[in-house]
Amino acid sequence: MPDGLATVAQVIERLGDQPGGPELLALGAERDELMLIGGAVRDLLLGLCPRELDVVVADGAADLASELASRVGALAGEGSVQRSQTAFHERFHTALVSWSDGQIDIATRRSESYAAPGALPEVSVGTIEQDLRRRDFTVNAIAIELGEPGRGTLHSAVHGLEDLAAKRLRVLHDTSFLDDPTRLLRLARYRARLGFEIEPHTADLARKALHGGALATVSRSRLGAELRLALSESEALAALVSVERLGALGAIHPGLRLDVAVAERALELSPVDAHPEVLLMASLLLGGESGNGAPLAEGQMFALLDSLEFTAPARDRIIRSAVVAPSLVARMQDAGRPSQLHGALASEALEAVALAGALAAPDSASELAARSWLGSLRNVHLAIGGEDLLAAGIPAGPEIGRRLGAALAAKLDGEIHGAREEELAVALERQG
Ligand code: ATP
Repeated sequence: MPDGLATVAQVIERLGDQPGGPELLALGAERDELMLIGGAVRDLLLGLCPRELDVVVADGAADLASELASRVGALAGEGSVQRSQTAFHERFHTALVSWSDGQIDIATRRSESYAAPGALPEVSVGTIEQDLRRRDFTVNAIAIELGEPGRGTLHSAVHGLEDLAAKRLRVLHDTSFLDDPTRLLRLARYRARLGFEIEPHTADLARKALHGGALATVSRSRLGAELRLALSESEALAALVSVERLGALGAIHPGLRLDVAVAERALELSPVDAHPEVLLMASLLLGGESGNGAPLAEGQMFALLDSLEFTAPARDRIIRSAVVAPSLVARMQDAGRPSQLHGALASEALEAVALAGALAAPDSASELAARSWLGSLRNVHLAIGGEDLLAAGIPAGPEIGRRLGAALAAKLDGEIHGAREEELAVALERQG
């Protein structure tokens, strides 16, 4: 094993510590032809924790999935949160077992051929060598047998281990990016996540594929799926920077443009309960241009996100943030008191406010307002409610809301400090 990588024995030992790992090892002891493969092997050889486990079998992916599911589910008993789900994909002979603690992807060893560039592949049952060869990068084309009697036997595509030790991303053949141009986005994502270099010939092939318009041969739906994978990385901004650096962002759609400084500041401003993927996607739209150099119109944003198959709730939140953020900068500037800031921001998404703060000049009143709203003011609430005013004799109706609003404004502006009695007194005294 090259320096810097774990041994196979260590990989198998660490697999035993992963969710689902002991069950896989136990199943391996009962059957041959079960191999750990792909990202899981890559990460365990690097000493990292895999995000999920990928295995391949010679056949019977669906049977293995249900056996695994019952073992994983049986662990914690009926009705527990560990209860697992399985899904079988007929065309690709793959199955997925997922439960609250983990996920195992099961694939049937296969060989793939591409009828047309960018199309989904034709699939047939294959050997492990063919299965390794259909993969995206050499570092993902390494497998370790878990089945007996060959447990621990390692299979690798040419250069696999050497590239992994050298932290290098290399495609398996020269037409890889043309066959499946989504690999260009995967390349960018792995470079950012693993901090790997791109091998020079692979970089050259990626450049040529991009300049040749390879991404235009892929459906928007698949591009959207890859973009969402980049957005869901734990270092999502780094992944986007990497996609942009490769020249792939504008190739997905010219309406997507990354302003790293704005995105960075927006992320820094956003609280833990905000959705970074919404924030980042909104910032891409905000920087984007329509064909004539004008900013993207709202209708164009809808068309773009629909074509990339964002869900309707995600699409609406992203677009609302992108559309409203520029106008929030001025609204925050004009809000002198915290209660006015509440009036301007209470109905806006956290991501819209964070983005607006990032668009504002550094240290401006607007930026400080966004910081203070997101950091504390949005969490100021009254201890009293409508029922307290009803009990005090205020008749049901809109006046209740107005009086509560007046009490909240007083609390936000520091006129009262949270005691229920004080809040009630203000609400009874002021009409709002
Ligand atoms: P992650 O850590 O994100 O789960 P992963 O490497 O396991 O990364 P997956 O998307 O789960 O990535 O895919 C599992 C494996 O399937 C990859 O390691 C790779 O070998 C192969 N693979 C996935 N997508 C492609 C593709 N478009 N072309 C070729 N091989 C692919």
